[in-house]
Amino acid sequence: MALYEDYDLYINNSLTRKKEKFEALKAPNVGMYVCGPTVYSDVHLGNCRTFITFDMVYRYLSHLGYKVRYVRNITDAGHLENDADEGEDKISKKARLEALEPMEIVQKYTLGFHEVMAKFNTIPPSIEPTATGHIVEQIDMIEQIINNGWAYVENGSVYFDVEKYNAANDYGKLSGRKIEELISGTRELDAQSEKRNPLDFAIWKKASPSHIQRWNSPWSVGFPGWHLECSVMSTKYLGEQFDIHGGGMDLKFPHHECEIAQNKASNGVDAVRYWMHGNMLTLNGQRMSKSTGNTLLPGELFSGDTDKLSKGYAPTVARFFMMQAHYGSQLDFSDEALQAAEKGYNRLMQAVAKLDTLEANGANTDFDVPNWRKDCYTAMGDDFNTPILISHLFEAVRFINGAEKACGLSSENLVLLKNTLNAFVYDVLGLEKAGEGNQSDKLDEVVTMLIEMRNKARADKDWALSDQIRDELATIGIQLKDGADGTSYSLD
Ligand code: AMP
Ligand code: ZN
Repeated sequence: MALYEDYDLYINNSLTRKKEKFEALKAPNVGMYVCGPTVYSDVHLGNCRTFITFDMVYRYLSHLGYKVRYVRNITDAGHLENDADEGEDKISKKARLEALEPMEIVQKYTLGFHEVMAKFNTIPPSIEPTATGHIVEQIDMIEQIINNGWAYVENGSVYFDVEKYNAANDYGKLSGRKIEELISGTRELDAQSEKRNPLDFAIWKKASPSHIQRWNSPWSVGFPGWHLECSVMSTKYLGEQFDIHGGGMDLKFPHHECEIAQNKASNGVDAVRYWMHGNMLTLNGQRMSKSTGNTLLPGELFSGDTDKLSKGYAPTVARFFMMQAHYGSQLDFSDEALQAAEKGYNRLMQAVAKLDTLEANGANTDFDVPNWRKDCYTAMGDDFNTPILISHLFEAVRFINGAEKACGLSSENLVLLKNTLNAFVYDVLGLEKAGEGNQSDKLDEVVTMLIEMRNKARADKDWALSDQIRDELATIGIQLKDGADGTSYSLD
């Protein structure tokens, strides 16, 4: 029997704002779509938090025995500045500034994104479709929306008719916005605007002469609107209706609101059964955001090469830090919080290691393993409550730390404890032993060790050895720098 038959899962559905019991449309299969990055710059830790959240969701669903098809897209065209219908394409702009092909920009930042995701031990999605790889399908959906009467063509561009749609549906239901307020909040259309109503959004845009990424369509040479790709690629790979759609909270409006409208307008059904939104990672209380520059990059976190941190942290420690908060709560990033997370992580992993050395000897402890195990599943079943799960894991840590080698558990319960703790720590939370699978951590440890040996050589006035260590590191591209706070290093 699959675990999901034993343990209920409740998901806080952002559409209904209620915790609902999760019922897969076609168990054991589950379809999950998550909005991926727009690959025009390095992802920051805020972006990473959202992807790590849905990696945890994917891991837990898989752990429960579901066969998850996890689709996470790459936005490589159509995302304009300010998430608007006017302005330059984010990728094309970067390409123009760096005198590169847009696809060179896409390649560079897609590879960078994958590298970072691997560092955080996230599992790659089952399918990672791109907007530019699905232009034909996007044109098909636009035709459907026009044929069904929900969009109009103006001067080569196609606009979704929000007012008409809203008369029959509830535009704004996800974000809780009322159309009247949205209308009063928008500026009057200027005389040249092609839109009938300021709330209408482009599903196809005619390309201006300077717009580089452009395709033929029945309406003009142009490009698809940003919201369209997600409607198209989610339903192409998961069906007209599917189980879970995720993304960061900032995407609720307009992106996901527009997705809902496009799906309904083209297929006549609400595509998504459970909408999930991850809350924001903040830095100094402000949302991490590329546009304001209030960001910390994964590389800065790992190396500690930033004035925002006192030192570098292993990716798995940052992951543990994120798992200590519920995905639906805002989380503030700081050096102190990371230091505390590192201590907690070390304590947890030391207990996991000690557990392997314990031996069963009857049943004479208060620690009730089956009940504890149930508590762990109840926590995760309550909308993926990882902080409560972690507090239960620490009940086990306290037991293990206090246990003698002959730990007082029956062999059955000792095995159950080991299996459960390992499953939640490694499979569900996705933590790793420090240094495991992570070459940069190992490198860091080796170089730190050599720096200490060199310090000792210098203290012993063994200048030949100290110079040899420095010079040989330099020949393989590792530069040592002696400063007031000791010796640091950088890689060429
Ligand atoms: P983008 O590449 O801007 O489309 O963003 C990729 C993902 O990162 C989206 O799901 C966003 O909601 C998410 N995101 C952006 N900023 C933050 C943040 N500060 N905290 C958490 N998630 C974020
Ligand atoms: Zn999307």
